[in-house]
Order: sequence, then structure tokens, then C-alpha cells
Amino acid sequence: MECPICGNDTFRVIFKFTEPPAIETRYPALSKISYYRETQQCEQCLHFIAVQEMDLSAIYEGDYVSATYKDKAGVQATFEKIISLPSHRSDNTGRVNSINRFTADYWGEFENKSVLDVGSGLGVFPYLMKTKGWNVTALDPDQRAAQHISEVVGVETICGDFFNVNSDQKYDLITFNKVLEHVKDPIAMLAKSKDNLAEGGLVYVEVPDGDIAALDGSEREEFTIDHLYIFSFISLAITADKAGFYPIMIERLKEPSTKYTLRTFLKRKE
Ligand SMILES: [Zn+2]
Repeated sequence: MECPICGNDTFRVIFKFTEPPAIETRYPALSKISYYRETQQCEQCLHFIAVQEMDLSAIYEGDYVSATYKDKAGVQATFEKIISLPSHRSDNTGRVNSINRFTADYWGEFENKSVLDVGSGLGVFPYLMKTKGWNVTALDPDQRAAQHISEVVGVETICGDFFNVNSDQKYDLITFNKVLEHVKDPIAMLAKSKDNLAEGGLVYVEVPDGDIAALDGSEREEFTIDHLYIFSFISLAITADKAGFYPIMIERLKEPSTKYTLRTFLKRKE
């Protein structure tokens, strides 16, 4: 095995799971097979890697949404519940405020800022960005999620895998909120965003913070099965560098939901 971020080949085992942890979504596809996986850590860049041989293909494109939100009414009910959270309890409000503060400092205030949100899920983030005056495009591979965002949130929506989207549309900001930990090649996905970044644009990336989460043990949502990777401060910085970006800010925080998170704003290398 080779670290997908730094290429190193030495790892240590951090956690072993012989059954789903209590906080993990129960996926129907996994209920009939014997459950075993490990969380290993690259000894060089401290990136965490989920090592397992179970067939997880069914988790995405349908099963993920079905297991998490049941059906269309469940998607809408969960969306309504999240947007009703008081702002001090909402991860999304914290994220949106942080982005608006940072971009206003960086660019100054300007009209008609555009944002492409990759992996929008329920669309809470696009919804809140729209209320702040952004011209929002949401992208999600799940048909139901995309339909919900289009109908309920009312922003432009692309249904598809970001790798297969061929658009030359340019955006001032491209956001990856808790997306890169789910994809096999996060460096390639991040690099692809350069095709759609406007001159002077920024990319915002948010990932689970494995360095700090690991201090609290294995029963943490950062280490559930749907995360192929959990980032370290260093592996996030290397990911940005190899994808062709300079991090102009990286911060870590504990969110209102208790998630440990790393956030970074990236500028394209000239
Ligand atoms: Zn590594």
C-alpha cells in the first residue's frame, strides 16, 4: 500500500473495527457480510486511511441517501430541521460566516459572486450562501439530492460526478465541504477544480481532522466507514500543494455538532 497523498509506504494501525461503531449509519448492503476494517496512519504525512476488503460500492449513489434520509420526504424533513437550527448550533452557519468574512477581507465586497459547491448533499450550504447574495451552483451525484436542491433550494443544480462534468463555466469560489475524504483520489479531484476557477478565485476545502479526533478514540464520526481517508494538518497541506494550490489559510476547529474539522482557503499557483 502507498499513501495516496505523500507516496510513503509505511503505516501503523491506529484502530481495528470488528463491528460498526455505535455512531455509524447501518447500511443494508453491509448487514449480510462479516464486518472488519482498520484505520491506519501514514508514518510520514500522518494521513489516515481506511483499510478494508468489504464491497462498499453500494454505499454511494442511492444507498447512502436511502440509509441516511430514507426517502424524498425524509430528505426534505432533514433539510428543514437543519436550516431551523439556531445559528450557534449550526455547523453550516459557522462555515458560511467564516467564508463570507474571509472572502470579504480577501476580495473586498463585490456584486454577483459565484460559487460552485461540489457534493452539496441536502443543500443546506447552497441555501445559506444564496441568502448571503451568492450566485450558487450546486453539484451532487445523487439524483434525489440534486432534485431536492433544484426544487426546494432553488439554485442551479448539476447532477453528476465532478470528475465527469465537462463545463467551462468559471466560478469565483469552489467549495468542497466534507467531500475529499470520500473520494479515492482527492488530489486529482481538487486539481480538476482549477478548470472552473475564475481568475483570482479561491477554493475552500473542509475535511475531518484526524489528528485531533484520534485523541478521543475510535468512537468518533470522523472514523466511520464512509470516510476512505481522514486528513491530518500535514496531509491537507500536501494535498493542496500537489493539486496546484497555495493554502493561504488553514485552521482547525471543533464545530457545534462536535465534529473536528480542518478548513483551508486555497489560491491557484500561477
Ligand atoms: Zn502519507
